[in-house]
Amino acid sequence: ESLDQGLQKTKESFLTKIGRAVAGKSTVDTEVLDNLEEALVSADVGVDTTVQIIDRIEKRVAKDKYLGASELNRILQEEIAALLVEAPDSGFRDFETPEGKKPYVIMVVGVNGVGKTTTIGKLAYNYKKAGKSVLLGAADTFRAAAVDQLTVWSERAGVPIVKQQMGSDPGAVAFDTVQSGVARNADVIIIDTAGRLHNKAHLMEELSKIKRVMKKMIPDAPHEVLLVLDGSTGQNALEQARQFTAATEVTALAITKLDGTAKGGVVLAIAHQFKIPVKYIGIGEKMEDLQVFDKEEFVDSLFS
Ligand code: GDP
Repeated sequence: ESLDQGLQKTKESFLTKIGRAVAGKSTVDTEVLDNLEEALVSADVGVDTTVQIIDRIEKRVAKDKYLGASELNRILQEEIAALLVEAPDSGFRDFETPEGKKPYVIMVVGVNGVGKTTTIGKLAYNYKKAGKSVLLGAADTFRAAAVDQLTVWSERAGVPIVKQQMGSDPGAVAFDTVQSGVARNADVIIIDTAGRLHNKAHLMEELSKIKRVMKKMIPDAPHEVLLVLDGSTGQNALEQARQFTAATEVTALAITKLDGTAKGGVVLAIAHQFKIPVKYIGIGEKMEDLQVFDKEEFVDSLFS
């Protein structure tokens, strides 16, 4: 799917809500700003981000007293884009790995059900398509289904996988994977981890252990800790990002399931409110449906 298609539901709802905010108005006045504020919050843009967007528009209205309501879409787009210019950027535009980091080790974290396994499969496919050799590690040993699903994805993407029996030590699987990746001269290693946030202390301990074990083979690994969030849960995704980033070091975010939801405005909130860049967005269930996130392109698509 293309970004425009993937964001269809979000776009429709977003533009309808903005349209309602200005209905029957010829200038951008306080009432329009109040309506717009309500519209953005209901479009999952998040309270903090919405307040900053409204502030920016208010300043502009003060400067140019006769701003027409019909121009609001354009002004809003410009101000959102300007706000996001300051937001962190992964610096990546495609499925490349940084110079001198071979194998490039990615550890993928997130709560069960958010689309973690699917995202790993998509990453494997895309890196392979970009000419990289990829190795997967099934370190979510807690659920038998997790290893099985990752195996299916490894077959689909045509990349090897390192796994052990269910219940085996996740650290041992991670070590085996990194060791095997080094031996095979792999370009990219992607390690799945368990996602049980209800037992936070234990989960965080497990993630720390996996990191420690990797460092025995590659001192600066993991190079990337990718937190996967389910965009269709709107504000819950924002809350999960807060909890996870407070508990463990995360270096990049992936936001999934944007195709099936009208809550895609949450991407703006997440991109704006965290010091960690959104690196990927998921816009479908297929291997091709993962895109490297581009702030500008996203905002353009939302308004097009
Ligand atoms: P995990 O438990 O976090 O590993 O989640 P899975 O990868 O098994 O995904 C859970 C469900 O979400 C599956 O049915 C996936 O097909 C679906 N899914 C994952 N990513 C996306 C996406 O970007 N779009 C859509 N529509 N579905 C997705």
